Amino acid sequence: MNEFSEIPIYLWVVIICILLTQGCWIFWDASKRGENKWLWGLFGLLNAPSNLIIYLIVTRVILKPNPCKVCSKNIRKSYKYCPYCGEKVG
Ligand SMILES: [Zn+2]
Repeated sequence: MNEFSEIPIYLWVVIICILLTQGCWIFWDASKRGENKWLWGLFGLLNAPSNLIIYLIVTRVILKPNPCKVCSKNIRKSYKYCPYCGEKVG
């Protein structure tokens, strides 16, 4: 008997629900922030809550929001021009 077969089915359902909720939230948040939503959404489905913490650190601390003055979309600080409207930034 291995470890996995000892986990009751309802616990698997709970785990899957948590992962799906987390994946969907990250997908939505990444899409809102102009990040790679498919990559981050998939990442969010793999592990909870560690991947959510990694996502929040990367997007909130490493990639600080830097809205464009013209179209107000979030763009990376390293960008010289806004990829959405072409305005010069930074
Ligand atoms: Zn812009």
